[in-house]
Amino acid sequence: MNDAPPVNNFIRQIVAADNASGRHGGRVATRFPPEPNGYLHLGHAKSICLNFGIAAENTGTCNLRFDDTNPGKEDPEFVEAIKADVRWLGFDWASLRHASDYFEVFHLGAVKLIRLGLAYVDDLSADEVRAYRGTLTQAGRDSPFRDRSVAENLGLFAAMRAGEFADGSRTLRARIDMGSGNINLRDPAIYRIRKVPHQNTGDAWPIYPMYDYAHCVSDAVEGITHSLCTLEFEDHRPLYDWFLEKLDLPNDPSLTQPLRDAGLWSQPSKPQQIEFARGNLDYTVMSKRKLLELVTDKLVDGWDDPRMPTLSGVRRRGFTPRAIRTFWERAGVSKQNSVIEYGVLENCVREDLDARAPRRMAVLDPLKLVITNVPEDHAEMLTFSNHPKDESFGTRAVPFSRELWIEREDFMEAPVKGFHRLVPGGEVRLRGVGIVKCDEVVKDAGGAISGLRCTLDPQTRQGMEGANRKVKGTIHWVGAHHAIEAEVRLYDRLFDVADPDDDSDGKTYRDHLNPDSRRVVRGFLEPSLRDAAPEQHFQFERLGYFVADRHDHSHARPVFNRAVTLRDAWSQKGR
Ligand code: ATP
Ligand code: MG
Repeated sequence: MNDAPPVNNFIRQIVAADNASGRHGGRVATRFPPEPNGYLHLGHAKSICLNFGIAAENTGTCNLRFDDTNPGKEDPEFVEAIKADVRWLGFDWASLRHASDYFEVFHLGAVKLIRLGLAYVDDLSADEVRAYRGTLTQAGRDSPFRDRSVAENLGLFAAMRAGEFADGSRTLRARIDMGSGNINLRDPAIYRIRKVPHQNTGDAWPIYPMYDYAHCVSDAVEGITHSLCTLEFEDHRPLYDWFLEKLDLPNDPSLTQPLRDAGLWSQPSKPQQIEFARGNLDYTVMSKRKLLELVTDKLVDGWDDPRMPTLSGVRRRGFTPRAIRTFWERAGVSKQNSVIEYGVLENCVREDLDARAPRRMAVLDPLKLVITNVPEDHAEMLTFSNHPKDESFGTRAVPFSRELWIEREDFMEAPVKGFHRLVPGGEVRLRGVGIVKCDEVVKDAGGAISGLRCTLDPQTRQGMEGANRKVKGTIHWVGAHHAIEAEVRLYDRLFDVADPDDDSDGKTYRDHLNPDSRRVVRGFLEPSLRDAAPEQHFQFERLGYFVADRHDHSHARPVFNRAVTLRDAWSQKGR
């Protein structure tokens, strides 16, 4: 391994410079801080790869921290799903934390701010606070409660903490500057009253800290050095720095005493917030609110529906952690917002599975092909290599007999120009067998094609002198007697427009659901696929990359999902 981490994005450059200058004592500590109010999506994966990646490259640490300051919306199901998804992506945390681990510290810090004359209890209602706040062009006005004495504020805050006031009736606010050009500094709230039980602390707290306050304090008490967040927090950075400067956690051991008592203490740091652009993908939505709606309104089959951009969804779809990591590494990290084409991610999946997925044959829209010059009782095992470019995948036996399944679309009775597969009277190579000629098209009473009768040219079989005879097309097949039947789910993009979030035409993302995003077919597969393990990947030759469904696949009832086609059909459609 190369010792020096790559410095090809601006965050890596900052970290390298900090290491060189000794700014954080040469330490690198990051965190990934999800709110457990939904499942993680592909955008979160960018943040995960970045935070865990930067830490690993610098022999540092990365914590997983649940930002659980919003009781009511948060759910233990989400906590477990998030942990599983981070692990699946290939990362492990140095320490698992919750913002709620620091509730005592937040409270002590708030009392300190009150004592310093830097925070006050405000009796204005939420609407009044909003009206007093002003606008981008208009300064705010001071609340009539802004100049309460320290003693009065301490008394009122104690009463808030004791649960004596109704929800929303008061807030604790930082006393900064109602005339600031940065609205975030116009006396932002530190605490609000919410008598809602919390999944970790029960009903111990009737007040909960606001994100901007809780986040910077959590970072500092965990000893985080580089607090990476998305661009919309850029304007919050002065507040992040203000709280930390006023609290001065590294030099005030009294604030962190509860953590020493709880065995969670580390030397507080002076973290620096660094913002980067969100990762966005076209043809999908990634706001947790919309994903939650898709699930609760049953527009998809749950959070892990293979069409969802959630990590559990793409996992079930057959995307690989390596492909997702490669994708975000190639996408890079910058301060410029951009939208990446979904096809770029799919190409990363193709690239990974091309290298790693063994090949198999499967027929998803079967047409019977009978080789009339092969005897009825003929049973032969052909040897196929499992990977055309990698011998280490070995070989497998594929049963060949008189009756086969081929793809219906590999035959055309009245061929269009340029069609090089099977036609009446024409020849095609059956992969690994030899050249067959179509002698007869069999039709049912209604005139639909029900089968083909062909003859195999024995001189074109392996080892024979005509084995290399040229013919334009090669098609795959599955032996009809030995084939297993499987449910095969063919997924496509969930939305049929590039920007489903765009509602400027009065339509919402719901109006852009792709009606063909899932097609379920019964296919015939090589028998060896019966023993596939759930989550095992294969290339079905000529059809795409498939995965045995994580939940539904079994030996008795094989179920495969198509992760991605072999080629990008969307760019060919010219959309
Ligand atoms: P949403 O807006 O979908 O609700 P969020 O940002 O509120 O997402 P959090 O659980 O707070 O969700 O996110 C955890 C971390 O992941 C945060 O640091 C956040 O900045 C980061 N993150 C979320 N979405 C993206 C994205 N699209 N690209 C990069 N990082 C992201
Ligand atoms: Mg958030």
